[in-house]
Amino acid sequence: MIKTDIVVIGAGPTGLFTVFEAGLLGMRCHLIDSLTKPGGQCSEIYPNKPIYDIPAYPEILAGDLVEKLLEQIKPFSPGYTLGETAEKLSKSGDDFVITTDKGTKVSAKVVAIAGGLGNFEPRKPNIEDLNVYEENGINYSIVDPNKYKGKNVVISGGGDSALDWTLVLSKIAKKVTLIHRRNQFRGAVDSVNKIQKLKDQNVLDIITPAILKKLNGQKQLESIDISVENEIVNIPTDYLIPLYGLVPKMDVFKSWGLEIEKNALKVNNALDYQTNKEGIFAIGDINYYPGKLKLILSGFHEAAIMCHSAFKIVNPGKKNFLKYTTVSGISGFDGTKKEPKKSQVNSFK
Ligand SMILES: Cc1cc2nc3c(=O)[nH]c(=O)nc-3n(C[C@H](O)[C@H](O)[C@H](O)COP(=O)(O)OP(=O)(O)OC[C@H]3O[C@@H](n4cnc5c(N)ncnc54)[C@H](O)[C@@H]3O)c2cc1C
Repeated sequence: MIKTDIVVIGAGPTGLFTVFEAGLLGMRCHLIDSLTKPGGQCSEIYPNKPIYDIPAYPEILAGDLVEKLLEQIKPFSPGYTLGETAEKLSKSGDDFVITTDKGTKVSAKVVAIAGGLGNFEPRKPNIEDLNVYEENGINYSIVDPNKYKGKNVVISGGGDSALDWTLVLSKIAKKVTLIHRRNQFRGAVDSVNKIQKLKDQNVLDIITPAILKKLNGQKQLESIDISVENEIVNIPTDYLIPLYGLVPKMDVFKSWGLEIEKNALKVNNALDYQTNKEGIFAIGDINYYPGKLKLILSGFHEAAIMCHSAFKIVNPGKKNFLKYTTVSGISGFDGTKKEPKKSQVNSFK
């Protein structure tokens, strides 16, 4: 049994930053994630896309943000159980015990659920033989855009992901074709205009309204048939990338007796993002409260508030005061120290 102060379910940006905020208050964390690497959506869905709304970073690649978070939390030596899904919740005395699908047990006084969309799955097209080509030409996310160099790529979808990746891959792939079942796209107007311009310059193709009909190829995908205004059109395709969004899966957390609202975990946002069970908090994309914004910076803020409440549960009777890191410095559990620079502090006279 692994013992810690806070067991954090989900190693996305919110879960990672929780380790830092907990560390400042002297609490240790153990992270569990179903994925085999940390970073959540940033690593899994869009590592090479720039993010523009992280405070103080005018632009940062999602993958680089994860690297920075990992560097920031390193002094607080979190434990990691990766590639395992938190499945069961039980109690042993005052501690919660989380058991994963592979049988790993982690016990802690506090549970921080930073599970994003739950165990999300890509929404898949309804088409025959999908499973035959899933490892051989069909991708639901783009991890390394360079994989598509010199390839015929068909992107299917009408939202921001489909539009953004069409723009990115049109610079890399041999040919990109964007297909969508409607004539209108849901994504940003600016992206639609850029794509239309590239189409006019013969850089890429757009086919609408188009419906996926058939996947062709010997083991490896070679082409797809689509129906366009009742005619079947064949498109040579090395990679088909359906980008229809993600299906949130909240089943695990539902089974723990946690209240769900709008397919997310309902929390007390007036106080500390605690769920209906004392000691179990939900932070980041996984929670719901009126006015919730599913943004990385919301997760960071919620992690800080939550950790101050967790301190009282982990250290009953002890008081903690908010200390600026400029004043307190950082004392890592690994022995590293970042001292405040007194000489640089201006004092009032
Ligand atoms: C294409 C795209 C672009 C985006 N651009 C921006 C942007 O520009 N700015 C911005 O602020 N936000 C952006 N977002 C949203 C942002 O990525 C999310 O708000 C952020 O990832 C939420 O972080 P999180 O840590 O709460 O959840 P996630 O990143 O979703 O991480 C949750 C983790 O929990 C794990 N997990 C879930 N359930 C379990 C379980 N039972 N056991 C173990 N592990 C579990 C998952 O595997 C996952 O790794 C974008 C999202 C997408 C898809």
